[in-house]
Amino acid sequence: MKCRVCGRDAVVKLDYANLKLCREHFIEFFERRVARTISRYGMLRRGDKVAVAVSGGKDSASLLHALWRLKGELGVELVGVTIDLGIRGYSDQSVEVARRNYEKLGVPYRIIKLADYGFIMDDARTLKKPACSTCGAVKRYLLNKAAREIGATVIVTGHTLDDFLAVLMQAYTRGDLQQLAKHRVYLPPADGLIARAKPLVETPERESLLYAQLLGLEFTVIECPLSRGATLADFKAALNLLEERHPGMKIMMLRAFLNRLQPLLPSERRVPGRCEVCGEPSTSSVCQFCRIRSRLTQLRATCNRP
Ligand code: AMP
Ligand code: ZN
Ligand code: ZN
Repeated sequence: MKCRVCGRDAVVKLDYANLKLCREHFIEFFERRVARTISRYGMLRRGDKVAVAVSGGKDSASLLHALWRLKGELGVELVGVTIDLGIRGYSDQSVEVARRNYEKLGVPYRIIKLADYGFIMDDARTLKKPACSTCGAVKRYLLNKAAREIGATVIVTGHTLDDFLAVLMQAYTRGDLQQLAKHRVYLPPADGLIARAKPLVETPERESLLYAQLLGLEFTVIECPLSRGATLADFKAALNLLEERHPGMKIMMLRAFLNRLQPLLPSERRVPGRCEVCGEPSTSSVCQFCRIRSRLTQLRATCNRP
């Protein structure tokens, strides 16, 4: 198997593009695609201070690295933000890996501890269902708050093509029109809310893994203990089966949704009021974070754990 660009030994075969690439040309291909996604959806502007949400996993490690390589060309400045969610057997390692990635690249960063708010995600262990949606709300809130305090103009996350499509399928399965409408690759800023973007949305997860491996980036492979039983992983497996039999299916689904379906959905304006408890942007009188906080601190008290 030879690289289409240089004829040296290829390390990867991309069926959807009928392309075989060597290490060097795959890395270049990967970074060019990130730059193209950013420009296609108007995700970043020159002079932006970009808060990169780094979890310790492969996707955000690859994103941080790719943006670090592209920052001169894009004319942006990077700052890392990592949330320590307090999940036993998971968070400590993830946060340390994130920290080492920042330090290796010399990217300034901030680590936010959920415990400083009087609870941790481990308190959700007693809940019956997977805690992913609760955890997602907590992360969105803390990332927004931290990014605003740092003076960042946009938050980027490592959500890949597979992540985006899996959530899409889940929302479709539930008939959740509201979630479909707000499932965006780029959300513009609104009062108190920092813009958010997903620069890896056109990148298959398997390639973000390969990029991280080829560059020798450090990342954790431990699965979050609170996500057991989550259906998103099964949607991803189903999508990969489709992709294997019909190369190009995943990117086609993304484009069809963004170009044809989403414009038909009622678009929710991001013009929030303020939470009565914490003062952060919220569409209800008490924000989701404060409601989660009150529920989980109660749980914590009743479980009587140290
Ligand atoms: P996940 O929801 O775990 O699939 O993560 C999706 C993206 O959210 C990651 O690629 C990161 O950009 C961001 N993210 C997840 N967890 C954290 C965290 N603890 N701290 C900062 N960013 C995170
Ligand atoms: Zn090559
Ligand atoms: Zn609040």
